[in-house]
Amino acid sequence: MNIVIFGPPGAGKGTQSEYIVKKFNLFKLSTGDLLRDEIKKKSTLGSKIKSIVNSGSLVSDTIINSLMENIVSNKAYKNRIIFDGYPRNLSQAENLNKLLFEHGQKIDLVIRLKVSLDTIKKRITGRMVCSKCGNTYNEYFNLPNESTTCCKKEYLKKRDDDNLSVAIKRFETYEESTEPVLDFYNKIDIVKDINGEMNINDIYKEISSYLNVIEGWLYIITPYKYDFKTYT
Ligand SMILES: [Zn+2]
Repeated sequence: MNIVIFGPPGAGKGTQSEYIVKKFNLFKLSTGDLLRDEIKKKSTLGSKIKSIVNSGSLVSDTIINSLMENIVSNKAYKNRIIFDGYPRNLSQAENLNKLLFEHGQKIDLVIRLKVSLDTIKKRITGRMVCSKCGNTYNEYFNLPNESTTCCKKEYLKKRDDDNLSVAIKRFETYEESTEPVLDFYNKIDIVKDINGEMNINDIYKEISSYLNVIEGWLYIITPYKYDFKTYT
């Protein structure tokens, strides 16, 4: 199966992808990783990307799409990619569909982690650190245990927060740019909304339950792809 995961910055997308990658033996693909790997290779394209990134410009869709093709066409990753932060716009989504189709694949599921801006603000502005031991807490979501001997109120300090406006801007950009992409996937009815405000374990359980269904389904229609030993 191939999956796309969406979620605003600060929604816990990274943590969830990590869990899923491990449990379902997937390969996580983000455009950031793709670009970094190409730069590391010191290829002609890599040095071109390096100068674009260094100049602070955005790498074009054409370049990103051609790097995507390298991965999608690679048999080692066939039907086991989780796309993280990609596709970012409609043209990338259409291109990805075309690429996958050419290589006998498709997107099976799009996961959208939904977290409100209000929650993201609280996660940032509520952050507190114990000045004695360095443990971190949150004024709204995670207060120290009442029986604590160390992290008492008087030791809990908030850090100055100049990141808040950046976070708000990133959230708004995310909402604006992903909306058309989600519409695109909604048309073929493969988007699952997940409440990103639940605890990490509950989110993971819900995502896993969807993936289990897909794995079962794939297993029925294409059993030859799987090592039977793992299913007995
Ligand atoms: Zn403490």
